[in-house]
Amino acid sequence: MLEFDVAQAQLAQAGNAPTKTEDCPLHQAQGRILAKSLTAHLDMPPADNSAMDGYAIRFADYQPGRGLPVQQRCYAGEQPQPLQAGQCIRIFTGSLIPEGADTVVIQEDATETDNVLLIDQAPKLGEHIRRRGEDVQKDSTLLEAGRRIGAAEIALLASQGYAQVPVYPRLKVGILTTGDELAELGTPLQAAQIYNSNGPMLAALVTGLGADPVHVLHAKDTFESLQQALNTLIADCDLIISVGGVSVGEKDLVKPAIEKAGGELDLWRVRMKPGKPVALARAQGKPIVCLPGNPVSAFAVFALLVSPLVRRMQGREQWLPPIEHAQLDSQPPFNDIRDEFIRVRAQRGDNGHTRLGVFSRQGSGVISSLPWSDGLARIPAGRQFKEGDLVPYYSWASWLV
Ligand code: AMP
Ligand code: MG
Repeated sequence: MLEFDVAQAQLAQAGNAPTKTEDCPLHQAQGRILAKSLTAHLDMPPADNSAMDGYAIRFADYQPGRGLPVQQRCYAGEQPQPLQAGQCIRIFTGSLIPEGADTVVIQEDATETDNVLLIDQAPKLGEHIRRRGEDVQKDSTLLEAGRRIGAAEIALLASQGYAQVPVYPRLKVGILTTGDELAELGTPLQAAQIYNSNGPMLAALVTGLGADPVHVLHAKDTFESLQQALNTLIADCDLIISVGGVSVGEKDLVKPAIEKAGGELDLWRVRMKPGKPVALARAQGKPIVCLPGNPVSAFAVFALLVSPLVRRMQGREQWLPPIEHAQLDSQPPFNDIRDEFIRVRAQRGDNGHTRLGVFSRQGSGVISSLPWSDGLARIPAGRQFKEGDLVPYYSWASWLV
């Protein structure tokens, strides 16, 4: 059996980072992966400006009780006059600091009467001014290639005037569900049927990573049905994820169907629970990952083993998300052979550690455990853990994005 971390690293190597790039309008770049490192066109802010509503003064002109005539009112977006000696200029948040001024007195600390300012609180030299370049300096690196673009990155790039950004093409993922017992959503459920939940689930997981689930196909447990679906997916997608039909049951025909499509299937027995049977194949240069059919196993194996591969194929720099350590708030199951990943809910403990509540039913078909949970706790094999012990914690918040 393959160690979990070895399997994870090896699987991530099964695909290649993209080589093509394309330009994307910034306002559509949410979730895309930056294909080139970008540098700052501008100092930010581009000029000294006021952080507050108030008055620009020359600090040396301040004396308690001395009135400073208001020379000009300068709103954000206007060009101020040079400040005359012994006067002040009314300014607002974002107004440019007039030449000759060196300090901003906030309006709460002063009284203006008949166009003359009386300062009630002694100012400090240089206060309430946002300096040119204090946020970002021209020509500095803004963002590195391989970074996923979200609202924060969009804010920074927009502030620099980037209307288009170079990104990698969206990764095209094909999803194949299998099984005669599965009913499509929107159709009535016949006796002996269950709804196909893995199809929508995997599509959502793929979308959540910023990739594109271009096909979600379902095949019956027949060689022909599987083969037809596989051909479409191999033709149209960069990565194929199949679910179900790869164990050793009589109707587990995914393996021969992949072989017929020209793929060589490598069955991995990974030392993890849930999800022992995971398979990797390659057909026409495209990786096919076969997940166990039980929905919870498929979800967990996708998060832990497939998401790193997806991130690498998307061109992301950080393809292995961070793992926290957190405290168990009850005794977990003992497993002497396989590392077990159990659904947990995270709470803030009194001692600064995150505390993990364990879902009471850990069966791999218990779908209700998924929306309940915040992630997976890893219980390493061969050791009895007890309440309060620290274990690795893979949060959905890190592993599903
Ligand atoms: P299999 O690996 O095909 O034997 O499937 C294992 C278990 O997962 C069986 O109970 C299947 O009914 C269930 N299963 C497989 N695929 C799906 C699916 N797409 N949606 C819901 N349950 C599924
Ligand atoms: Mg099946």
